[in-house]
Amino acid sequence: MSALEAPLFGDQIAASRLSERFYALGAEKLLRLAIEDLFPGRVALVSSFGADSAVLLHMVAQIDKATPVLFLDTLHLFPETLAYRDALVARLGLTQVITLKPDPKELAKQDPENFLWSSDPDRCCALRKAAPLAKALANYDAWITGRKRFQAATRAALPLFESDGPRLKLNPLATWTQADMTAYFAAHALPPHPLVAKNFLSIGCLPCTSPVRPGEDVRAGRWRGRGKTECGVHLPSMLEAGADI
Ligand code: SF4
Repeated sequence: MSALEAPLFGDQIAASRLSERFYALGAEKLLRLAIEDLFPGRVALVSSFGADSAVLLHMVAQIDKATPVLFLDTLHLFPETLAYRDALVARLGLTQVITLKPDPKELAKQDPENFLWSSDPDRCCALRKAAPLAKALANYDAWITGRKRFQAATRAALPLFESDGPRLKLNPLATWTQADMTAYFAAHALPPHPLVAKNFLSIGCLPCTSPVRPGEDVRAGRWRGRGKTECGVHLPSMLEAGADI
């Protein structure tokens, strides 16, 4: 059975088989395979327009500038991130960047004082990230993330393909290193996120992101001191319940 004949959705065995088969393909060819052959018109890149995002955005733009790009605006983002998004979209010529925002009625009900990030960050991420993303992903069979193994110990075993409920999730940069990322930025003269120069190496929402100190994981500045390492969009139960990036 070829990879294209394999059942692709909701099947961890199929995801593992795809990971093994395409392990050596490389990120750009893997993206082309996903966008043009495996899921034409049915796959979206989910991007935070953060510290590393320009790499995947650039690759996708080389393949098809109309590839859907989903951007979660939690309404707690750094103004620098919004400006960087606009600059990158213009530079790369992406034509289908879709900004997702939390439901205003749910915001008024669950977070009327905009302080849930402090009192209950898991609920805040569920409300401002996981719920809008789950709703948007209903339109797709697969989604692409920019996660990498080197980012944190919790991502050390990240596969290329994952089963994600009824969808498949692709992590084309899973095996990339920080040196690979830096080299790609340089080779394509990609602009850095303005906060990287201030040691923000993983950039989420303003209240929950701090600079990274020498020797720390690149994600050490996220929810510092809160015992939280992920926003929850990569936990299938949260997405399925409608409950990072
Ligand atoms: S990262 Fe912080 S502010 Fe952003 S959605 Fe999660 S808890 Fe809320």
